[in-house]
Amino acid sequence: NLTEKLQRAFKHLRGQGTLTEENIQEAMREIRVALLEADVNLNVVKELIDHIRDKAVGAEVMTALSPSEQVIKIVRDELIALLGKDTARFKFAPQPPTVILMAGLQGSGKTTTTGKLAAWLKKGGHRPILVSVDVYRPAAREQLKVVAKSIDAKIYEGDLKGEQPGSKLVERLANEARREARNFGFDTLIVDTAGRLHVDEELMTEMEQLKKLLNPQEILFVADAMTGQDAVNSAQDFHKRLGLTGVVLTKMDGDARGGAALSIRHVTGQPIKFIGTGEKPDAFEPFHPDRIVGRILGMGDILSLVEKAEATLDKKKSEEFAKKALLGDGFTLEDFRDQLKQIKKLGSMESILKMLPSVGPFAGMQQAASQVDEKQFVRLEAMINSMTPHERRNHDIISGSRRKRIAAGSGTSVQEVNQLLRQYAQMAKMFKSMGKGGLAKQMMRGGM
Ligand code: GDP
Ligand code: MG
Repeated sequence: NLTEKLQRAFKHLRGQGTLTEENIQEAMREIRVALLEADVNLNVVKELIDHIRDKAVGAEVMTALSPSEQVIKIVRDELIALLGKDTARFKFAPQPPTVILMAGLQGSGKTTTTGKLAAWLKKGGHRPILVSVDVYRPAAREQLKVVAKSIDAKIYEGDLKGEQPGSKLVERLANEARREARNFGFDTLIVDTAGRLHVDEELMTEMEQLKKLLNPQEILFVADAMTGQDAVNSAQDFHKRLGLTGVVLTKMDGDARGGAALSIRHVTGQPIKFIGTGEKPDAFEPFHPDRIVGRILGMGDILSLVEKAEATLDKKKSEEFAKKALLGDGFTLEDFRDQLKQIKKLGSMESILKMLPSVGPFAGMQQAASQVDEKQFVRLEAMINSMTPHERRNHDIISGSRRKRIAAGSGTSVQEVNQLLRQYAQMAKMFKSMGKGGLAKQMMRGGM
C-alpha cells in the first residue's frame, strides 16, 4: 500500500548524510511510483512531485532533521496543502431551512451519511429533518426511516399515493419536505437521493431538477474511499453537472488506498468536509487534512519525530537564550546576533516568546522584542558581523571611530550602528535586572 511504498522511498534516504540533487531525484522517483500505485490521479502526482522536488532542492538543511526526515516533512506539508490546509466549514443558509442535497452512486453511503450528518447537526444544536426521494426502491426509503429512528431524528415520509416513480414524484416529495421544515421550524433539511451503479443521464437530470427546485446550500458528494479512481471520476462527472460544494469520504475505516482522498479534492477543487469511519451513526467526523495525511503516510511515529525535532530545535535555543538572559551572565552582542538569526528562522520574535510564560519578568521581553524591527535583521546582522570578536563581547569599547569602521564595513550608517547599540544595551540591561530578580531564578530552578 501507499504507506509501505512511501516508507521504502524514505528508507533509502535515511542512510544519506545530506540532501543532494541525486538522492532527491531517487526519492522522487520512488514517491511517484508509490503515489501512482496508490491510485492517485496522474495529474495530481505530477503536480505534487514538482512541488516536493522544488521544496526539497531549495530546502535549507535543518540541523535538527536528517535528510530523510526533511523530505518526509516536505511530503507531509505538500500533501496537507493538496488536501486544503484547513478543515472546511459547513455552510448554513441565512434564511432557514438550510437544504443539503446528498449526491453519489449507489452503495457509496448516502443514506448512512444522511443519518450521520443529522446526528452531527443535532449535536451542534440544530434541528434537522430528513427526506428520502429515492422513490425507485421502497427499501431505500425504509432504510432511511430506520436510520432516522436510531438517532431520534425527524423524517418526512410523505405519501406516495400510488404515484409512478419518476421525477414528478421526486419533486413533489422534496417540495413537501421543505414545506414541512418551514412550517415546523426545522433549520436543516437533508435530502437523500437515489443512486445509480453508474453515472447516467436520467440520474443527472433528476439531480439538476432537485438543485433548481431546492437551491441547496450544500451539495455533498458521497464517495466510497475504497473505490479509488472510480470515485474520483464520478466526483468529476457530478461536479461538472451539479457544482458540488463538498465531499464526504465514506468507509475510511477500511483499508482504502488513500489515493481517492488525495485526488478528489484536486480534481473537483471542492474540499472533503467529512469522513465516515464505520457503519454506526457516530462513526463520522469533520475532515482534518493533517490527520489524514498522517494516516496516509502511515508513519505516525516518524511524523511525530519530525514534529518533535522541529519543536526541540526552537525550544532548546530559546531555553538557552532564556537561561543566559535570566541569569544575567553576560548577554553579549554575539548572543544578540544569534537571537536575530533565530528570529529570522522562526519568523518572528513572538514565536520564541510564546514558548515562555508571559507573566512576571517575562512580560518585559515581549515589549523589548517589539522594538526590534524585523525587517532590519539583515542590516543588524551585517553590523554585528563587521565587529571584531572582542568588540562583540565588550560593547563598551566601541568608540566613535570603531562605529565608523563598522558602518563602512557593513554598508550601513553610523546612526544605524548607534541605534543597534542602543537596542542591544536596552535588552542587556533588562535581562540583567531580570536576572537579579528572585522570581526569574525561582522559575529557572522550577525547570521552565
Ligand atoms: P447508499 O446506496 O449511497 O445510500 O449507501 P448506504 O448508505 O446504503 O451504504 C451502503 C453500505 O455501506 C451500507 O452497508 C453501509 O452500512 C455501509 N457504509 C456506509 N458508510 C460507511 C462507513 O463509513 N464505513 C463502513 N464500514 N461502512 C459504511
Ligand atoms: Mg441509499
